[in-house]
Amino acid sequence: MFFPRNVVIPTKVGISFLGSNLNRYNFYFMTQTVNEHVHVLILGSGPAGYTAAIYAARANMKPVLYQGLQAGGQLTTTTEIENFPGYPDGVTGTEMMEQLQKQAERFGTEVRWGLATAVDFSGPKHMVWIDEEHLIEADAVIIATGATAKYLGLESEEKFKGSGVSACATCDGFFYRGQDVVVVGGGDTAAEEATYLAGLCRKVYLVVRKNYLRASKPMQDRVARTPNIEILFEHNTKEIIGNQTVEGVILINGKGEEVKIDVTGYFVAIGHQPNSDIFKPYIDMDETGYIHTVPGSTITNVPGVFACGDVQDKHYRQAITAAGSGCMAALDAERFLG
Ligand code: NDP
Repeated sequence: MFFPRNVVIPTKVGISFLGSNLNRYNFYFMTQTVNEHVHVLILGSGPAGYTAAIYAARANMKPVLYQGLQAGGQLTTTTEIENFPGYPDGVTGTEMMEQLQKQAERFGTEVRWGLATAVDFSGPKHMVWIDEEHLIEADAVIIATGATAKYLGLESEEKFKGSGVSACATCDGFFYRGQDVVVVGGGDTAAEEATYLAGLCRKVYLVVRKNYLRASKPMQDRVARTPNIEILFEHNTKEIIGNQTVEGVILINGKGEEVKIDVTGYFVAIGHQPNSDIFKPYIDMDETGYIHTVPGSTITNVPGVFACGDVQDKHYRQAITAAGSGCMAALDAERFLG
């Protein structure tokens, strides 16, 4: 039986812990009542979070899942999903996430609106603040908060998201078969996306802001060996143009001149940001923020805290791999809780 009790917890003046680091916090101490005890708390509502919820609920672990800022996660920003097994005719990201939510709820998952804004993983019970005010004490926490694709921040980019602008070649490349597209970025992701798209498209323009690629040597070699990729070094995007869908892009070259190219697809590949800032003080992660897990598991350095999906995976980043790791997280949590 759970009884509300008072605990002394760190908190902070201001609106959010997001984007912060423990050393930079302006902490003071106050007393806050634990509002609720939860057996298994799942943070995130992408394929990883919902799959963890389905498994945890079926194992009678009474999971509570908070959806986060973007209910349904990154997939809700894509168009059609054709590579998730079990959907021979494809499915929209939104529809798939609605179905996953229903499936999780069918077995007893409590799905709620709300964003985890701070945590304290220093004790045996894990403290999680939702929307900065609701304090949950959890026996186990599954972090499935995903990653956010970085965009350039152009107005025209926002306008064409889902109708020509994408941050995922594997998800959307198929729709541009035989067409000309742009990939923006000079790292491994951009090189990988460009070579993937080159297998489908007539021509791929790789738009790189510097005069060299940051991508690893083998990836650079792959790009160089692909005849239908043209690298435009020292080019930046000014604007994406079109009516209902993308019809072209205006670039600015190294001399400051405008260059217009006709393309129907514009793929942004300038990196992802894992949504892990609030966990930084407690959870081991790499310099970008990808959470470290024990290889072959979802176990983090904090007992009872597990991580699955894109927040701990910078290599595969697929819906199906996220779902698979969500299943692993629920099984790992079940074993931990005994
Ligand atoms: P990176 O941070 O490595 O590269 C980002 C690229 O985008 C850089 O070339 C950068 O330019 C460019 N960029 C950033 N902002 C802008 C902007 N506003 N306008 C134009 N260009 C911009 O990210 P990645 O996603 O490529 O890689 C992340 C990590 O994942 C890396 O460690 C990478 O090695 C790894 N990875 C590994 C893969 C594999 O092994 N198969 C596949 C994919 C990723 P600039 O160079 O000028 O900063």
